[in-house]
Amino acid sequence: MPRPALWKGDQYARIAILGAGPAGLSAACCLREQGYGRITLFEQNSRVGGKVHSLPTADGIVEIGAVLASADYTHVLKLADDYGIDYQPYPVPLTFVEQHQQHTLMELLLSRHDAEETAQAIHNYASALQRFVCDQPLSQAHSELFRPFAQFAQRHGFMPVAQLAQSILVGFGYGNYEDTPALYLMQIIGWLLKVENGQLQLGEFFTFPSGYQSLWEAVSADFDVRLNARITTITPNDDNGPLHLIINEEHDFEFDALLISAPLNQLSQLMNWPEQHQQLFRQVNSLRYLVNLFCASKLPTETFSLIPEHAQPTPPHRTAAWANRSADKPVYISWQQACRNATPEQLNAALAEDIHNQGGEFKALLLRQEWDYFPHADSQALSNGFFRQLEQLQGQSGIYFIGASLSFETVEHSVRQACSLVQQHFPPVQE
Ligand SMILES: Cc1cc2nc3c(=O)[nH]c(=O)nc-3n(C[C@H](O)[C@H](O)[C@H](O)COP(=O)(O)OP(=O)(O)OC[C@H]3O[C@@H](n4cnc5c(N)ncnc54)[C@H](O)[C@@H]3O)c2cc1C
Repeated sequence: MPRPALWKGDQYARIAILGAGPAGLSAACCLREQGYGRITLFEQNSRVGGKVHSLPTADGIVEIGAVLASADYTHVLKLADDYGIDYQPYPVPLTFVEQHQQHTLMELLLSRHDAEETAQAIHNYASALQRFVCDQPLSQAHSELFRPFAQFAQRHGFMPVAQLAQSILVGFGYGNYEDTPALYLMQIIGWLLKVENGQLQLGEFFTFPSGYQSLWEAVSADFDVRLNARITTITPNDDNGPLHLIINEEHDFEFDALLISAPLNQLSQLMNWPEQHQQLFRQVNSLRYLVNLFCASKLPTETFSLIPEHAQPTPPHRTAAWANRSADKPVYISWQQACRNATPEQLNAALAEDIHNQGGEFKALLLRQEWDYFPHADSQALSNGFFRQLEQLQGQSGIYFIGASLSFETVEHSVRQACSLVQQHFPPVQE
């Protein structure tokens, strides 16, 4: 029988957090709200923010990680308000480019389906959102959501909307809608595509003029954040004694609890995990997601373009979305999912060809950032109780899991999950 965790409710409990991205930093904020005072964050990079990465350039800040916060990002926007970080509406100039024609959301829908079919699909989509999207933990989600998204949409009669959403979801790096479980995509689609008076509308979005990362820099200033500090080994103590963390393979620290925000499929090297953990970690897969910053001529400016024909598993590594924010600067950013073995030459060739097919001329690649993205479980794993089993691991040997693989790959989802985990497992300190 393990001893009870005596550190719970003790303001001097030593709590470590692996990762100073949105999940780690918001967990730190919530722990502080619960009264815990000895929190240390270890971040392997030389900056905070994780996949929120604002790059200062001569032409201003370029977001090579997260870009947008939607009006539904209640936690993120509150944090920005609390820290005085400005955010401004960004009316995303979204267009779908099909056979060299630019379409809005409704134009594309109506070019593919008649008015009656479209109206019915929108109605069914709104009903599915109402029925299946709620704030309950993923471990209690309706099993219908374990189906691949396309199958789910088919069964619930909103395939035309799902097909439209497909290029948005691929552009945002969430895999292929024929495979990705509805459990994930239904968490975001309602924020992206709103139903107003029977019409589909794009949600309301914000960007951060000082950079998305500036929010996390502001938050981190309140905490003991160790940069360039990679947790390389975790030694748990199975009797609720302290855990040992080795940083950069040399420094040994002792803590009472550890919150891990790295994706579960990256944890195998850190510790000799029990078989139950390893089994779950093996069920998490992530995707290779690329951001290219490039110069081109003859492409439209001030646009956020999606290419529906590239929202398919084949051809591989095509540009799914690209954007330009300034009429007088021919600098573009594009997003693409790529297979693991695609070489830089293949990626460059695909990019140049995609630009050419859009009527543009590729000039130069300024930067390419690779991300290991969207850690998720497949439909089979979800049906086998992936999230339920994961919940049972929380707190074993003083170790807790937060971050995108516990929820969904957006800033808001990571923040919400981290805060709700803290509220559930870290009782307020007793005076
Ligand atoms: C190109 C791109 C565009 C995106 N666009 C949006 C968007 O518009 N809106 C949106 O909401 N989201 C967007 N996202 C997703 C969003 O950025 C992520 O979902 C969010 O950052 C996840 O936060 P996290 O803290 O869970 O993980 P991360 O941000 O990945 O943070 C984890 C941190 O842990 C650190 N770490 C890992 N292992 C160790 C270790 N062993 N020791 C120490 N530190 C470690 C990592 O270095 C990292 O800093 C985008 C992401 C990308 C890549």
